[in-house]
Amino acid sequence: MLKNEVNYEEKGIVFNIQRFSVNDGPGLRTIVFLKGCPLSCRWCSNPESQNKHRQVMFNIKNCIDCHQCEEVCKMGAIDFKFNYRIDRNKCVNCGECIENCYSGALTMSGEEMTVQQVIDELKKESIQFRRSKGGVTLSGGEPLMQSKFTLELLKACKSMGWHTTIETTAYCSEKVIKDILPWVDLVLLDIKTLDTNKHFEYIGVNNEIILENAKKIIQFGIETIIRVPVIPEFNADKKSIEDIAKFAKGLNKVNEVHLLPYHKYGVNKYECIGKEYGMRKKINTPSNDVMVKFKTIVEDLGICCNIGAH
Ligand code: SF4
Ligand code: SF4
Repeated sequence: MLKNEVNYEEKGIVFNIQRFSVNDGPGLRTIVFLKGCPLSCRWCSNPESQNKHRQVMFNIKNCIDCHQCEEVCKMGAIDFKFNYRIDRNKCVNCGECIENCYSGALTMSGEEMTVQQVIDELKKESIQFRRSKGGVTLSGGEPLMQSKFTLELLKACKSMGWHTTIETTAYCSEKVIKDILPWVDLVLLDIKTLDTNKHFEYIGVNNEIILENAKKIIQFGIETIIRVPVIPEFNADKKSIEDIAKFAKGLNKVNEVHLLPYHKYGVNKYECIGKEYGMRKKINTPSNDVMVKFKTIVEDLGICCNIGAH
């Protein structure tokens, strides 16, 4: 296959396609969320994105206790005595219980789609992309984890003339970066802390690969914005933000850092996938005053800084 020939039959697992976003790249964007992430950030607001496979979600608030699911499950994975209802060790995510759940308490996160199917969805917004100078953003999860699918999807987007953005943790091999970047216009690069021990403790992996890959992405010459989730008890302190700002400065070509205040939007989803939320529930969003102080730290190093993802 030629380098820019697209395999429209390549398949990936997509868990959401969100239209009309103004936060994840220039203009109006459609965001394609891909399943799978090698990181497990304790505060993750899309915990259903971490597992790379399709996954049943159970929302007890919608359940009417009809027991239909229990009757149809051949694996014996539904147990009303079980804390989160589904025994994940037995469940094979076949989806039969969902088809028999008429209240919507059971849903599937993740759908297998071909590149062609995603492009067909994206085409619905192509006029908006042109008018607003927007485009497509691939997010997750970690879009580089489904690297073959991401590559083909990016190539297909470029063949349509659309602006492409990836939101990435950069936790991947050098080969993946080299393959993918020629098809990317903007990288939104998450850097969470320079403290290796803390990174491992709160995220489950070391940060060396991420920091090395950050340098490679910059060397590639692609516009890059560094995004920092500002998380109390993790990195919401002067030193952590200063360290990241200095790292960004050292990369030379980073003109923009976005500080994203901690929020709890995804907390309720943890129960739906049978997981405990990894942060203390009493932690609050950093105040605007605190965020402004962090913004000043970044700006004092001569880097443009926004609070939020604008
Ligand atoms: S997805 Fe399949 S295996 Fe899992 S609980 Fe539902 S019916 Fe059982
Ligand atoms: S089928 Fe749906 S509504 Fe009925 S018990 Fe199962 S989860 Fe609850």
